Amino acid sequence: MAQENIPQPTDIKLKKSESLQITWSDGQTTRYELRMLRRMCPCAGCRGERDLLGRQLLPVVKTSYDGPITAVGAELVGNYALRIIWSDNHTTGIYTFEYLRSLESV
Ligand SMILES: [Zn+2]
Repeated sequence: MAQENIPQPTDIKLKKSESLQITWSDGQTTRYELRMLRRMCPCAGCRGERDLLGRQLLPVVKTSYDGPITAVGAELVGNYALRIIWSDNHTTGIYTFEYLRSLESV
């Protein structure tokens, strides 16, 4: 899907136990608290699976992340998203640039 109107990250700074900071191609800089990002994970396991008819099912995994969650790494997925690898071995969270831009900066 073409998303030419979505700014691309030009710089990504990951502080593994604190925050993720992205500088965008339109000059904006956003900083995300890692705890918040983990809670906002957009993957099916965290947001709830959809069945074949597209109905939203209840989330299968419901965990409260009280412990310190850190990011082990982050990698670009194509030219549209960022995958974050978490210290609890959660790697299916793919944060599209559009989604990241919709989140509030801290
Ligand atoms: Zn997830």
